[in-house]
Amino acid sequence: MTLLTHPHLATAMGRLGTETAFSVLARAKALERQGRDIVHLEIGEPDFATPANIVAAAKRALDDGYTHYGPSAGLPELREAIAQHISAARGIAVTPDMVVVTPGAKPILFFGIMALCGPGDEVLYPDPGFPIYESVIRFVGATPVPLPLRPERQFRLDVNQLRDKLTPRSKLLVMNSPQNPTGGVLTPADIRAIGELLADRDVYVLSDEVYCRIMYGEVAHASVAAEPGLQEKTILLDGFSKTYAMTGWRMGYGVAHPEIAAAIAQLQTNCTSCTASFIQMAGIEALNGPQHAVTEMVAEFKARRDLIVDGLNAIPGVSCLRPAGAFYVFPQLRGFRKSAKEIAQLLLDEAGVAALSGSAFGSVGEDSLRLSFANSRANIQKALDRMRTALAKLR
Ligand code: PLP
Repeated sequence: MTLLTHPHLATAMGRLGTETAFSVLARAKALERQGRDIVHLEIGEPDFATPANIVAAAKRALDDGYTHYGPSAGLPELREAIAQHISAARGIAVTPDMVVVTPGAKPILFFGIMALCGPGDEVLYPDPGFPIYESVIRFVGATPVPLPLRPERQFRLDVNQLRDKLTPRSKLLVMNSPQNPTGGVLTPADIRAIGELLADRDVYVLSDEVYCRIMYGEVAHASVAAEPGLQEKTILLDGFSKTYAMTGWRMGYGVAHPEIAAAIAQLQTNCTSCTASFIQMAGIEALNGPQHAVTEMVAEFKARRDLIVDGLNAIPGVSCLRPAGAFYVFPQLRGFRKSAKEIAQLLLDEAGVAALSGSAFGSVGEDSLRLSFANSRANIQKALDRMRTALAKLR
């Protein structure tokens, strides 16, 4: 983490974390500029092109003059399309006033936590987990309460542990399924148990479902928002980045109680004003147009998943679960002379494989690496070969 220590910075800046993926990517790019060949397994973005029908819709929207400010909560046409999509996909009744569109799904995390939490509030979140959760929880002055995810439970949240950690100060539970960084997926039974636990408690939920379309058929996606009594106290987060290979377009959304959605939209008015209008028009095409590109991407991810999991498990000292969703693996390293953090550094500097240390996602991941398999099979095989050679020297 980059420590923000300049004396003129506000105190809260000292509590702000970051995403190591971006700094490792910068270091990997710097090495490439020196002529090194690096396999990128650090960054979490699909390597496919955005489907052509979506690109065409954005071009059309530019020609049609969607080049001005729009409402902070999003264009009515897109909010309507999202409401219909989420209603059908999650089996809940969503109206457009519950939808707020943001530049990427990330602002839903930032604005959502900011809208709900402050000093004195406890926020429960997965560890290992997407580092932005803990960062924003600390930034707003709330108290982070990590919920350990263990490989023995396929990195699924343990509802008994959640029950034990709830206190009268618990304000928000952040959930993420399929999960970054482990690829763990909560089963419908897990979701039911969490729903039952929270049904009559005054705890809000932020359900990060940004990887819900990237699943490999072993477990069905279930949303806590569909559990009895939970929809009105859930902010459901989803987006376009991962599903449609649109990371650079910056567009995501939240679905929440209309007053919470309005609060998030007002934070947006104070910050970015709105999401780019022509990009929102492309979002309508993404949701309502043909979906075969998504199916094809997921099929390719599945083949890559099997390649990387089998390849990692064939390396002495490495053990890796087969994730049911997302495009990450979180292998554990045992019996090496260096820590996972040192190994990640060494893999980049000496073996030309950019990977992240599990510790970038919380203390529970200290003996692990996070590898993204959003890269070609040829590159994944090259990375596996390089890792096998590099790790053999560290036993
Ligand atoms: N949530 C999780 C778990 C993620 O991994 C990411 C991106 O890596 C996001 C949210 C944010 O995605 P977006 O690109 O839509 O802002």
